[in-house]
Amino acid sequence: MENTVIYTQNLTKQFGDEVAVKEVTFSIPSGTIFGFIGPSGSGKTTTVRLLTGLYRPTEGKIAVLDEAPTEFSRATQRKIGYMPQLFVLYDDLSVWENLNFVASLYGVGFGRSKRLKEVLDFVELANHKNKVVRKLSGGMKRRLSLAATLIHRPTLVFMDEPTAGIDPVLRRKFWDHFQSIREQGQTLFITTQYVGEAAYCDYVGILAGGRLLMVDTPKNLRRRAYGGDVIKLRTSDYVPPQVVAELRLLPFIKGDVTRIGPHTFRIITDNASTVIPLLIDWAKEQQLKVESIEEDLPPFDDVFVELVKDRGSHD
Ligand code: ADP
Ligand code: MG
Repeated sequence: MENTVIYTQNLTKQFGDEVAVKEVTFSIPSGTIFGFIGPSGSGKTTTVRLLTGLYRPTEGKIAVLDEAPTEFSRATQRKIGYMPQLFVLYDDLSVWENLNFVASLYGVGFGRSKRLKEVLDFVELANHKNKVVRKLSGGMKRRLSLAATLIHRPTLVFMDEPTAGIDPVLRRKFWDHFQSIREQGQTLFITTQYVGEAAYCDYVGILAGGRLLMVDTPKNLRRRAYGGDVIKLRTSDYVPPQVVAELRLLPFIKGDVTRIGPHTFRIITDNASTVIPLLIDWAKEQQLKVESIEEDLPPFDDVFVELVKDRGSHD
């Protein structure tokens, strides 16, 4: 792939008898958000540690910014930001002092104060810069960790469950931050257990038991779950069964037509935006009054249930 930032092939990590990551293959283009989604114990942290060079693979290949992570050059290390699950902050130091310390570790010299201010503004902690970390809320500590991860302007950022255990409002805000980081051209590799967060990613990898089940865009995951785009049609009047049977036979209806209420149908098609006008025309011919017709975007919690259910039936 052109401009591949992360590449793995058959990446495997074993701890004694335990295989934590098994034959994982994927690649990530630059300037994207890659969400690595899986339940606890599925191998997310192990993968991040392999990608950042903390672990050596048992088998398989990895290239991150064209280098093997265990042999990163100093220059490449500086291009990488890593926010571990438990970011180490100093409780007795202030927000500013913590950030200043991390900046010195990364050798941020010229214009350091300006950069500190910039990053604190970004995570909305500028008004708390003199507060001692001990007195910060959990959410504020998490934002400070994010600021520390970004201080040296990394082009590739790894974050291991950055949104775990924080309230939905702050989670949403974090994803806004991630998207604005991506808009600056950076690449983000983010792990999460919250499947709903798939919606904010460019690509999603689904991990279970150390195996990567699939990698796709959120839109395609929806399509894979339901076999196409989902259209919800609601009519004013009852639609008799013989009319539903005709609907199923229409050439532009490729998937299931399911009655989900007396006046409501769920229709699976190849392409919702081209099929919706055709359905409106068809309804007119049938003298059916359409109350509403729209593409149905089921929440990702439902999408994942469908995807996992599908796998079950193939095993
Ligand atoms: P996640 O981050 O998705 O919760 P981990 O990568 O931490 O998953 O763990 C994946 C599996 O590997 C788990 O079964 C865990 O017990 C095991 N594991 C992780 N690290 C080690 C280790 N250092 N030694 C032995 N087993 C480990
Ligand atoms: Mg973990």
